[in-house]
Amino acid sequence: MTAVDASETSTRKYIGRFAPSPTGPLHFGSLVAALASWLDARSKDGSWLLRIEDLDPPREDPSAPDTIKRQLETLGLIWDGVPLYQSTRQDAYDEALNELRKKDMVFVCTCSRKSIRGVYPGNCREKRLEESATGACAIRLRVPQKIATFNDRISGSHIFDLNNTVGDFIVRRRDGRTAYQLAVAVDDEYQNVTDIIRGDDLLDSTPRQLCIIEALGYQSVRYGHFPVILGADHKKLSKQAHAAPVSIKKPEKTIRDALLCLGQTSPPDTDNVQILLNWAIENWQPDMIPARSTVWTPA
Ligand code: GLU
Ligand code: ZN
Repeated sequence: MTAVDASETSTRKYIGRFAPSPTGPLHFGSLVAALASWLDARSKDGSWLLRIEDLDPPREDPSAPDTIKRQLETLGLIWDGVPLYQSTRQDAYDEALNELRKKDMVFVCTCSRKSIRGVYPGNCREKRLEESATGACAIRLRVPQKIATFNDRISGSHIFDLNNTVGDFIVRRRDGRTAYQLAVAVDDEYQNVTDIIRGDDLLDSTPRQLCIIEALGYQSVRYGHFPVILGADHKKLSKQAHAAPVSIKKPEKTIRDALLCLGQTSPPDTDNVQILLNWAIENWQPDMIPARSTVWTPA
């Protein structure tokens, strides 16, 4: 695995995406991710796609996709085309997994979740267990013994010792569901995504997704990870921590707050969200995104 070089994708038309998991309405932290990827796409005359990552129904709220769409629309973040729902993509994930099986890049793992702490120690790697005979089992990718590097447009260059920091990771869970890492890589390729802008809580996922991209011969993507927004308790804003749904009552106020968190200073004094967004596209400066997490408390 070599460095992901920004120039590799430069001849492709920019396609960005926002890929929320519908576990609830957007909170302010997820809105900042949506806005950053939208601005980056629009400032490069690119497309911006919406993908609903509904792969884990027990964790989801059935009304969330519509709520998220309404929030985005009201805030002026309009996506191109029709949203892609991961729940409709099982055949594609199965096909990708088959491809990995053919290449002998995956193996069956019967270890219980509890028995694995941290990096997978490789217990089942050479056992060549059969899927059918073992009952509930996960499928893991055989992660190569390599150093992976990639240049992030926002957070700089990263180096991962794949074996010691990532290890063979799960691509199909014990419950039969496709793991997030596989689904994301398959869909980014399917949707021709060139650029991923997202919070750095997902930085850990990037080397895993790079492994899948390489294993399946997919096109490379550029990454930009910005520091996630923290709440008053200095913890990441998250649905698990009951972050409040983002307010759409005053769209320009919400967008203005999000722009400030992204270091985009001196937006015009207007109560028209469209004027504000147009200014933000014209003046988008990813270099101004603060290097450290912003603590945000609703006014
Ligand atoms: N669905 C993931 C989440 O909401 C994000 C996926 C991604 O941006 O790669 O955390
Ligand atoms: Zn195992």
